[in-house]
Amino acid sequence: MTFPIYQSEETFDPRSPEEWAAFRALSHRMVDDMLTHLATLREQPAWREMPPSVRAALAEPIPRAGVGAEAAYMDFVQNVLPYPDGNLHPRFFGWVKGNGTPLGMMADMLASGLNPHMAGFNQAPALVEQQLIDWLAELLGMPGGSGVLVTGGTMASTLALGVARFARARELGIDVREDGVQAWHDSLRHGPLVFYGSVETHGWARKAAEFIGLGNRAFRRVPVDADYRMNMTVLAEAVAADRAAGLVPFCVVGTAGTVNTGASDDLTAIADFCRRQKLWFHVDGAFGALAYLSEKLRPWVAGLELADSLGFDLHKWGCLPFECACVLVRDPEMHKATYAAPASYLAETTRGVIAGGLPFADRGIDLTRGFKALKAWLSLKADGVDKLVRLIEQNVTQTAYLAERVEEHPDLELLAPAPLNIACIRYAPAGVSDDMLDAVNTEVLLRIQETGIAVPSSTILGGKFAIRVANVNHRARLTDIDVLIDAILRVGADVTAEMKQEQPSPSAPRDR
Ligand SMILES: *Cc1c(COP(=O)(O)O)cnc(C)c1O
Repeated sequence: MTFPIYQSEETFDPRSPEEWAAFRALSHRMVDDMLTHLATLREQPAWREMPPSVRAALAEPIPRAGVGAEAAYMDFVQNVLPYPDGNLHPRFFGWVKGNGTPLGMMADMLASGLNPHMAGFNQAPALVEQQLIDWLAELLGMPGGSGVLVTGGTMASTLALGVARFARARELGIDVREDGVQAWHDSLRHGPLVFYGSVETHGWARKAAEFIGLGNRAFRRVPVDADYRMNMTVLAEAVAADRAAGLVPFCVVGTAGTVNTGASDDLTAIADFCRRQKLWFHVDGAFGALAYLSEKLRPWVAGLELADSLGFDLHKWGCLPFECACVLVRDPEMHKATYAAPASYLAETTRGVIAGGLPFADRGIDLTRGFKALKAWLSLKADGVDKLVRLIEQNVTQTAYLAERVEEHPDLELLAPAPLNIACIRYAPAGVSDDMLDAVNTEVLLRIQETGIAVPSSTILGGKFAIRVANVNHRARLTDIDVLIDAILRVGADVTAEMKQEQPSPSAPRDR
């Protein structure tokens, strides 16, 4: 039997020194183009609408035969590069999205180039992730804790809730891994599990409740006070009432930096309550946890260091490219007991490549994982934690400046306290109804986005439409805040005038 295909065997590598040289040249061009893009962001609009031709170009039939790397790359340059949602820009303040960094981008390239399988495999890349986790655990008041990098804050907090559920079930003599939530239905001894968070808790909690089989109703939403912090009296009453009704409370979620306003729950009080009530204390610190790194800002998120578990992002206030988040669990044994799943084809040996096992696969759901840790490790080493702290403080100062400009101007209104890096504001000249202000501010927001001046987003606070400015932007300067405020005033005046004109006065006859 012969194998005549030898000459035509395929590979995705270049096949000759000439092909390598051509690919190297293209690669250098890619790096140069992207760095030029990053270096000239200020000259570009914060956002631009996609023309129909671009939408059409991005709806191609399946490419059976390739066009080659260079042609495909030109498609990227023409049709993709100019049309993201704007989060690179110095005046992007929408939702809570980080910018990414040039060094982080290069680290992602190195991570892909090296392409290690990060289930564990106790080689150098695994030591990098473990060292990073140890640093983060120490920085955030959980030294010796167990951790793993994940895609985002949603996954981080979902994994933590899974550990909390497992831990509580174990106390009750239920093996939730073996018997599932079904065990509760089968057991006459215990009512269903429930957990608590404020109404300002991010939407991950609902998804997590559904995903781990508890159901949305198991997530008890506790009202907030005027500062958007969880009302502790109502929490205590709710837990007592649920216990009396035969339910099994297992966890309280405190938020360090809520998504709407940047408020933080009283984490110290929640920790104390959880200790007395024997409940798991999880902190969602998606962006706010990193405020803990600053001595100046730490009081805003104090108590975070008392958590049983903490979920937070490095791709928001940590500024790293997507995706990069981390879950920390204080009790390493509990973390591993929740997720470790031995398999014959993954068995650990005392020597060789799999010596040391698969610690990261044992701390979550993912088996195959990318080398997200590299960008965080490399960036912390290159810039130091102190620089990150200065940037975080800078964003808070910029937000305080924005809040001050808003409060000083008679036509602007601050709709909630802005203690950290989020401000909810609106254009509100005297003598305009709340209904009309909602319409005016919606239009102002859209025009500011569509003209590419800046990208804030929106929320509803106390029934009022708010322009929401969330600042995790390491490229923003105070002058960018001025540009945004001036635009809101200018566009706000235009839109209000237009809308007043459109509105028929009460006495005018309506003709249709
Ligand atoms: C962004 C955010 C999340 C979700 O994090 P992702 O990284 O988007 O999954 C959770 N909680 C808060 C407070 C957030 O701001």
